[in-house]
Amino acid sequence: MDYKNKLIAIKLKKAINTKKRIELFSLKNKNNKDLIGSNNVLIGKLDVIINDYEEQSLCNDEHINFEHTETKLASRSLTTYEQKLETIYNEQEQLVQEEIQKIIQDQTNTFINSVLAILLMGASGLYLLNEIDIRIYTKLKDKFKEVMLKNYDLGKDTASSELKISKPKTPLSVKQNINAEAEILATTVEQDINNETKNIVQNAFFAGAAVTAIAISIRETLRLRAEQVARTAGGSLVGDLLNKGRATVFEEKEIQVKLIAYQRNEVLDVNTCPMCRTLDGRYIKPDDNFRNLTLVHVNCRGFWVPIFERQDLLGKTTGIPKFVVNRFDTIGGVPIINKFKQFKKKK
Ligand SMILES: [Zn+2]
Repeated sequence: MDYKNKLIAIKLKKAINTKKRIELFSLKNKNNKDLIGSNNVLIGKLDVIINDYEEQSLCNDEHINFEHTETKLASRSLTTYEQKLETIYNEQEQLVQEEIQKIIQDQTNTFINSVLAILLMGASGLYLLNEIDIRIYTKLKDKFKEVMLKNYDLGKDTASSELKISKPKTPLSVKQNINAEAEILATTVEQDINNETKNIVQNAFFAGAAVTAIAISIRETLRLRAEQVARTAGGSLVGDLLNKGRATVFEEKEIQVKLIAYQRNEVLDVNTCPMCRTLDGRYIKPDDNFRNLTLVHVNCRGFWVPIFERQDLLGKTTGIPKFVVNRFDTIGGVPIINKFKQFKKKK
């Protein structure tokens, strides 16, 4: 997000009254009059946009806090491993984004038609809103599951070819976790989208917005939400599962017996935040809880590389610095990443 948009996001966040929020939003969209329907419809739309900007501006806050490290860590050229992983990251994230966006948008029209029918019945029909849903759970769950299994497998592929060992089997627990996670994520996304859309419809209706304006607003809201969910899913599921696949390979006995450390590698480019830049190149002991760190941010693409030679560690400090550790929620020392909420919560 550019600096100007970030400032608008911060202003939006701070603006407490609706008038002020609408003013700011109009300011941002003064060249795009189509986006501005009636003020009432706008309020619902603003909530989505603010939410989106908040996520991104919190990510940018990291840039502010870690600014000092950015100058210290000059960019370097990518290693062969990183180039390979970067290609997978880019391809997979792009693919996931397109597919998920399509799933959500495909269901939009049916939903909007049902909402319109209800709105035309007037206030007496509004309770029926609870009866209709954007049904994306099953398709999303299947897609999340497919994406997770595929990237887990790609993670195993990369690590086993780097280490020249045969690809280990996927433990049953991993499959079960993937199933459970796909179900939970799909449920959450479906519920969020439905609640949000219905709130907009109700508020806009009671505020007197025209039915056509409400339809436009729902479409726009769902478009933004689809983009956001797709972006987050692309960024978080791919990175998380690639790392988990790699970790399965590292757990193999033949690796464990000679393993002396892990090194964090970050695919360094404009997307990488300063916090992840500080992680780049750091070594941890094989039993360090941070070995369980998969991805950190949806825009960053880090992974672990096992180290076997003592001489690689000579003169190097090991461990994750406290100022970085403190930025994570941990349970028993294990860093916890909440994939779909990671930017929403500021530590
Ligand atoms: Zn990051």
